[in-house]
Amino acid sequence: MQAEIINGKEISEFIKGRAAKEAEKCKVSGREPCLAVILAGDDPASQIYVKNKRRACEECGIRSLQYTFGADVSEEELLGLIETLNSDETVDGILCQLPLPSGIDEAKITNAISPEKDVDGFHPVNVGKMLSGKDCFLPCTPAGIIEMLKYKNIEISGKNAVVIGRSNIVGKPVSALLLAENATVTVCHSKTKNLKETVKTADIVVAAIGKPKFITADMLKEGCTVIDVGINRTENGKLCGDVDFENAVFAAGAITPVPGGVGPMTIAMLMQNTVKSCKSRLNFH
Ligand code: NDP
Repeated sequence: MQAEIINGKEISEFIKGRAAKEAEKCKVSGREPCLAVILAGDDPASQIYVKNKRRACEECGIRSLQYTFGADVSEEELLGLIETLNSDETVDGILCQLPLPSGIDEAKITNAISPEKDVDGFHPVNVGKMLSGKDCFLPCTPAGIIEMLKYKNIEISGKNAVVIGRSNIVGKPVSALLLAENATVTVCHSKTKNLKETVKTADIVVAAIGKPKFITADMLKEGCTVIDVGINRTENGKLCGDVDFENAVFAAGAITPVPGGVGPMTIAMLMQNTVKSCKSRLNFH
């Protein structure tokens, strides 16, 4: 039997549609939501991500501001801009596209963004709130993964979830969110022993490794749900995930493709966070 393909594009359109309705309500009661994006350096992938974020803002009726700097931008310049944007009451979200040019302390920049405008959910205040279950901006990719599972009515509570990868932007936060949804969570990484046996116990597998086709069909429990976060390129330049999709699709019960799976969800959640921020600034819920 072939697994159900979880269509991230479709789910992200639903989330963006909902954000657009809320953005319209914001506009009626004062002003449209506004996202400020800072792009520094000439990383081609970052340029594409920023362009896609701007396009999503247009779709949702969110005003977008873009600040572009060369690779020679100084930390002081970026900190100065963030300070200005922090105190601008018409700006709801601020994000600084990573990676930043070498020599710039990414943590210092991320931490300078006001937690109230940290729509990426990377600020330590938001990370702490997330871990203690308080209302906050959730990081977009992990929150998007939970949204996908909920949209597809895939039970999380009481299930074994195995997350492969422990980065601050994906692995750790998605583990925390799965735990908050009452999954029994195991986090694997490069030092994990018996990876195959551990993954085999999972009802839900989240692969966030950054290695093409690393998770193979023989590692999966029959009928499990597979969420593939990886974005990799094969030797011939084709996009692929961390899961060997062509074979895993016959072992899993549901699986996300790459592209068209988790990727679109990340931007949709960013739109949702920006609208949430605007609503709290305009004081309506
Ligand atoms: P990182 O490189 O920061 O983390 C990779 C993780 O994988 C690490 O925790 C590492 O372990 C673990 N790992 C590496 N090799 C192995 C191994 N052999 N066995 C088990 N675990 C291993 O990556 P990110 O979390 O930032 O990203 C992961 C992937 O997701 C990338 O392909 C990235 O492009 C993609 N991504 C996609 C997004 C989307 O919107 N769809 C958003 C963000 C990322 P250790 O900690 O021990 O080194």
